[in-house]
Amino acid sequence: MTTLCKMTWSRAAEDFIDGERLENLLARPAADAAAVRDVIAKSLAKQALDLEETALLLRAESPELVEEIFDAARTLKRTVYGNRIVLFAPLYVGNECVNDCEYCAFKRSNRDVVRRTLEEAELAEQVRALERAGHKRLIVVFGEHPRYDAEFIARSVRTIYATRSEPNGEIRRVNVNAAPMDHEGFRRVREAGIGTYQIFQETYHRPTYERMHPGGTRKGDFLWRLDAMGRAMEVGQDDVGIGALFGLCDWRFEVLGLVAHALHLSEHYGCGPHTISFPRLQPACGVRIDPRYLVGDREFKRLIAILRLAVPYTGLICTARERADVRREVMAFGVSQIDAGSRIELGGYTEAGDAQQMEREQFVLGDIRPLDAVMRELLEDGYIPSFCTACYRLGRTGEHFMEFAIPGFIKRFCTPNALSTLLEYLVDYASPQTRQAGLSAIQAELARLDDDALKKELIARLERIRTQGERDLYF
Ligand code: SAM
Ligand code: SF4
Repeated sequence: MTTLCKMTWSRAAEDFIDGERLENLLARPAADAAAVRDVIAKSLAKQALDLEETALLLRAESPELVEEIFDAARTLKRTVYGNRIVLFAPLYVGNECVNDCEYCAFKRSNRDVVRRTLEEAELAEQVRALERAGHKRLIVVFGEHPRYDAEFIARSVRTIYATRSEPNGEIRRVNVNAAPMDHEGFRRVREAGIGTYQIFQETYHRPTYERMHPGGTRKGDFLWRLDAMGRAMEVGQDDVGIGALFGLCDWRFEVLGLVAHALHLSEHYGCGPHTISFPRLQPACGVRIDPRYLVGDREFKRLIAILRLAVPYTGLICTARERADVRREVMAFGVSQIDAGSRIELGGYTEAGDAQQMEREQFVLGDIRPLDAVMRELLEDGYIPSFCTACYRLGRTGEHFMEFAIPGFIKRFCTPNALSTLLEYLVDYASPQTRQAGLSAIQAELARLDDDALKKELIARLERIRTQGERDLYF
């Protein structure tokens, strides 16, 4: 443990990743089909799985059982969670970094990457560009550096909320991905009004973690990072997002690590993570990738489907690291959030156009289509793209407001809010083709609503958005 932080561990601080146990669970013989089907049935009843049950699904290798797992994930997505997909964009504020993570272009030993921190005016310019594309939700991303302290992060968040653009551009939810803080740091950042605090453990396999984070850096402290969400939750930041960087170690081990992390938070704080991310390692400037653990597309699909079944109340995020065709396919397995129109080079929303400039970005993106093109594809595939930010602004966070926790919640709140934020996008930003596809989708969704009072109110609100220029009318 670093002396600097000794006083600020969470009350539940412990290394809850029992690597030996996880390896033993994975080394057991494949379970018979009946046992796998029992576990699938449990998750279709929306019950979270424990580590043994998750491992059982991970050990199911026969093509037939893998297909059954895919089908179950699709069923859960369709029948339980509905067809909304929440959209956001990443915004990189600074890429100075004191760490030396093997996999990342921003590592301090990389002399080829262009270092930059956005000035306040430059940050506002990026925000206006995002608003002009129609975004309402951002995740702001920082390297780990003394200049990006809690005060700096909080100031950046305030700048973003305060930056508006004509006619109706505003960012309504800012999530943060930045190095783990102590309690006081989390408190300050929370006071700036952040949505989710997100940080990835990268790998739950301790020996791999140590190899990937050499040089006695702050990030090299496995437990300080593992404990971060506990500290955040203890100051009231109960929307947290966890993740693992797939490609550093056996993917099945990482899935168990993520589930163990979710269970730990649930047990100690009464609430699991709001989201789980599963980025796959991408080529990056100055990074040599060891191909041994790279995750192929089929394994990637398996891990998403198994996560969907294991943590039924948690949102799943699939980023633009993935190619468009992969994202399209895994959406059906229960992904609930994607980024779109993303640029990850500093200043990229106004300066870099469509070019992929390796020496300016953290890694190479697989899907650089504009937001409007992604919206259109989603609509044509039967999804309802949503920019809803209602819950956190109404204080509906934490235990009782996991994305999918409450029966009837989606019908009463999520669907109406998805439709009204979609209509705002269609009126203010969409291309004619996307607008057409969106208006038809709204009509189809309205026809499916069975609560007459709610439907009447929603139709009235949609009309106010369309004809009277009203915005941000949420349930
Ligand atoms: N510096 C903070 C940290 O390390 O937690 C902020 C996040 S970093 C800028 C965002 C995430 O990008 C990392 O947590 C890591 O999982 C991911 N990442 C780094 N290098 C990557 C690569 N080559 N391919 C894909 N994802 C990568
Ligand atoms: Fe720095 Fe984060 Fe990249 Fe590691 S992953 S080098 S901490 S920016």
